[in-house]
Amino acid sequence: MTNAFHNPALAAFLDALAAELTVAQVRVRRTADGFELRHEADDRAADGDLRPLSVAELCALATHADNGAFRPLRAAPNLRRGWRCKVGDAAELELALNRLYPGFLADWFAALTPPPPVTNYRPFVERQTGMYRLAAKLNDAQAAQTIRACCHARFCLKRRLWTVAGLAPDPPTAKSMIPCLEPCALLLEFARKSMRLEQEEKMTVDLSPSDLRSVLAALDWAAQHPPPDLREADFADAANPRRLRRVAEKLRARLPAETAGQNPDERDE
Ligand code: SF4
Repeated sequence: MTNAFHNPALAAFLDALAAELTVAQVRVRRTADGFELRHEADDRAADGDLRPLSVAELCALATHADNGAFRPLRAAPNLRRGWRCKVGDAAELELALNRLYPGFLADWFAALTPPPPVTNYRPFVERQTGMYRLAAKLNDAQAAQTIRACCHARFCLKRRLWTVAGLAPDPPTAKSMIPCLEPCALLLEFARKSMRLEQEEKMTVDLSPSDLRSVLAALDWAAQHPPPDLREADFADAANPRRLRRVAEKLRARLPAETAGQNPDERDE
């Protein structure tokens, strides 16, 4: 078993934990006989109302959302509720956290010492081969729109520490304590699709700023109400919420500066 005192990341986490701590959507608490994990939204639920899960069962919990959909990103904000997991010691706690948020402890610990060991967008995409080389063709503004859309808090609770020119990292208070140190496979696939969309022949649509704001409001609504059978990583589907958000990013950039702040799409940012 892992010994907390031989694992600096775990030891640092136990120091930070104190009595309780929230990791993305999971509340971790010290108890008289170890630790307890549950969904943060179940914070006040009676123990008897929650299904007891073993550490091994957390894997299945994290794999699928409530509607049965596969969760390609474990840090997506759709972890299922209604469970609690009791663990007896720090080594089991580490296992439990890694089942729910793989790599969290190591990444969090690595990011504690500045500068964090990030791989920014350009060096990451420049080392890609095959069909993913396309992601390197996005210019900085297109890459920033793609990243803002893909990594939005509605889709992922990791705090992005890597950047591309013109796009700041997420601020320290953003999203959660789970850092994102380099683009993930989903981002890479989305960037590839984004470049494919950029390569299509463009058309011109005349819209007043007010009409554009209506379109933005519609996109925002549609992004929050995706078709129930749509797979999160299916970027070929025009209704994919990340694609809608990317279009919103592009349209918002076209709004006159003095009216851009009226865009309802920005209310939750
Ligand atoms: S690249 Fe973006 S979507 Fe992927 S894990 Fe990092 S923050 Fe989340």
